[in-house]
Amino acid sequence: MVEKSTSSRVEKLYAVKGMNDILPSDSSHWEWFEEQVRSQMVRHAYRNIRTPIVEPTALFVRGTGETTDIVEKEMYAFEDKLNGEALTLRPENTPGVVRAAIEHNLTYDGGKRLYYMGPMFRHERPQRGRYRQFYQLGAEALGFAGPEIDAELMLLAHQLLSSLGVHGVRVELNSLGVASERHAHRAALIAYFQKHADMLDADAKRRLHANPLRILDSKNPAMQSMVDQAPQLLDFLGDPSMKHFDTVKTLLSACGVQWSVNPRLVRGLDYYSHTVFEFITDELGAQGTLCGGGRYDGLFELLGGKPTPAVGWGMGIERVLELLKVQGCSNVIASPDAYAIVAECGGFSVAMQCLRVLRAEGVSVQMHGSTLEGMGSIKSQFKRADASGARFALIFGPDEIAQGVVTIKSLRDGSGAQLTQALNQPSLWARSLQSPA
Ligand code: ATP
Ligand code: MG
Repeated sequence: MVEKSTSSRVEKLYAVKGMNDILPSDSSHWEWFEEQVRSQMVRHAYRNIRTPIVEPTALFVRGTGETTDIVEKEMYAFEDKLNGEALTLRPENTPGVVRAAIEHNLTYDGGKRLYYMGPMFRHERPQRGRYRQFYQLGAEALGFAGPEIDAELMLLAHQLLSSLGVHGVRVELNSLGVASERHAHRAALIAYFQKHADMLDADAKRRLHANPLRILDSKNPAMQSMVDQAPQLLDFLGDPSMKHFDTVKTLLSACGVQWSVNPRLVRGLDYYSHTVFEFITDELGAQGTLCGGGRYDGLFELLGGKPTPAVGWGMGIERVLELLKVQGCSNVIASPDAYAIVAECGGFSVAMQCLRVLRAEGVSVQMHGSTLEGMGSIKSQFKRADASGARFALIFGPDEIAQGVVTIKSLRDGSGAQLTQALNQPSLWARSLQSPA
């Protein structure tokens, strides 16, 4: 029995702002999403990688980039009190994956296709679709240089979203070329922005020399028309870069993916080159980017590895699930096959032995449990059985147990049909409780 507390209540504690509990009513959607992901990843031959949530701060300063929003203002960076190490809760997982690939020489025998799912942390202003702890699904292809892998990754994201039943998602893409092309464009960009210095906001002024490309990313309406007229990186691309980009577009079209080029799509991270892309919906307001990614051929070297081409994307899981909700896609919320009603405490020994076998046979069973008020009447147990969504009630009453049987009552088909089965041979009738596949 649980002792009832007599002392006055202690103060409640709450979750950190912007960090959410995912409760069972929602987590069934998450589990379903994760199953779809695994199934698509297997079909595309991408394998799972799990890296630590805490990494050295230097990984993101170098990898994500010093002048990015993430590193400038969104990182949960702290000093380990015990040894003074500078650590950070990962704001994204691409640098972690690349660090692990370098550390374990993962690409020594050829390219690797990887995916991950897990929490990321960014100190942002919490709002719909923007949280301080959020979950990303990511896919990374390491060691492949060709445009066909850029297309493969985009097709993977596209196929995953289709398999989930999401619709109306736009694909935008752009090419950032190679470093020398970006340099030439950068000079032209700085000259252009200097000519319009009076129109630049404080953020843009700060970025003018540090990272002028990012000014193209600005959402400030007052700067839109000026930014729209800025020199386009696409005009600075040489033939090999253009060919890479054209092949990606051709492959996407051949596979039925509609796309559009957005010359202002530069992505917020420093490590991108060649193809960059986003999957966007108009149904989630300002937080409409579901998935973003691109090629990052320079990142391995930036993190101390050998030159290794790579490409990948990250997808915000909350945003995808929110879109599914908005679009009314319902997926199956798992109910147990059966609910075990146990009339008296003395029945648990027999009931639990039987449930053990049923579960081993693959049946999902929820067992009635006593509360502070005790076992509850059979009637109240039936109410619980109903609420559980189970299709059958298994009744372990004193009469049943005396006769060595269990009564099975149908709860969902309106028939109320009842039959008895042998208690000592559950494997003979386990199948009859399972839903047809
Ligand atoms: P945004 O422009 O919305 O801030 P981002 O460019 O910072 O996105 P990425 O770093 O590319 O985002 O992350 C990939 C995906 O992760 C985003 O497209 C989005 O779906 C999701 N995401 C990013 N930040 C958050 C957040 N704070 N909360 C929830 N999801 C997020
Ligand atoms: Mg962001």
